[in-house]
Amino acid sequence: MSELRFEELRGEQVAYAIHRQERTFLPSRAHCPLCPTTPGGEPTEIPFPAFEIAVFDNRFPAFEAPHGAAEVVVYTDRHEASLGTLSPERAEALMWVWRHRYMELGARDDIDYVFIFENRGVEVGVTLHHPHGQIYGYPFLPPVPALELAADERLGGCAPCALMGRELNDGRRILLENDHLVAYVPYAARWAYEAHVTLREHRASLLDCEPAELRALAAALQALVRGYDALFERPFPYVMAVHQAPTGGRPGGRAPEGHLHVEFYPPLRTADKLKYLAGSEQGAGTFISDTLPEESAGALREAIALVA
Ligand SMILES: [Zn+2]
Ligand SMILES: [Zn+2]
Ligand SMILES: [Zn+2]
Repeated sequence: MSELRFEELRGEQVAYAIHRQERTFLPSRAHCPLCPTTPGGEPTEIPFPAFEIAVFDNRFPAFEAPHGAAEVVVYTDRHEASLGTLSPERAEALMWVWRHRYMELGARDDIDYVFIFENRGVEVGVTLHHPHGQIYGYPFLPPVPALELAADERLGGCAPCALMGRELNDGRRILLENDHLVAYVPYAARWAYEAHVTLREHRASLLDCEPAELRALAAALQALVRGYDALFERPFPYVMAVHQAPTGGRPGGRAPEGHLHVEFYPPLRTADKLKYLAGSEQGAGTFISDTLPEESAGALREAIALVA
């Protein structure tokens, strides 16, 4: 069981999940727990010889019922694949799986925020290489989505709508755009190659999206990831965060708001140099960046076009 403690100085929750120390750490290819279970082979987490997309409870959960949830979403039974190399149909199916999990977990009383994410690469702490993402159901509204709701208040309307409009007006940091969405390196990106993918229409969550929007979202995420991999000709580590409307009631009883968008935080600033969170970032909360978003957007846009 994990334990929540409230850190008064920062006004935020810290979760203690000490059983996670025991979790499988970078097993060899032959012992991958997310590969299918082959006849005569050792059993994995997935007791089938083949599968498309698999979702199950994390064996080492940070949150679990009746105080939240932690799930694993395996994108494919192919160990060497990635989000970028899935077939377009599989990537689109993944959007529907996300949507379904958002709906089911979001309906639970013990979950206030459904957070879909992927950690890719040992640089961001991945312990299993098999292509997969995770879903946490938080029993509270975590600080980052809370900050985004505060931005709505500050801007007097939907912040993602407003920021997307500013990016389209400026144009220099746009990575790709179509009828359904816009991808850009934000004006004040914290990471050199940070990217946000935002639906053009104000959609609070995946539940509000049209099928064509889900297809476009899958295609954009894939194009972006392939562009990342092409940029330095190496698998590009990142944290991918899907931000949607909270599913729990807010203090004061106001209806939850939000605007579906996907953020990528890649730690690389060059092909072989990592950005570390150091004194200013950790102790003062201010990012210091060595690169300008306009320049990294230009390079990333070219890389995306190259492999489109
Ligand atoms: Zn595997
Ligand atoms: Zn909006
Ligand atoms: Zn966000």
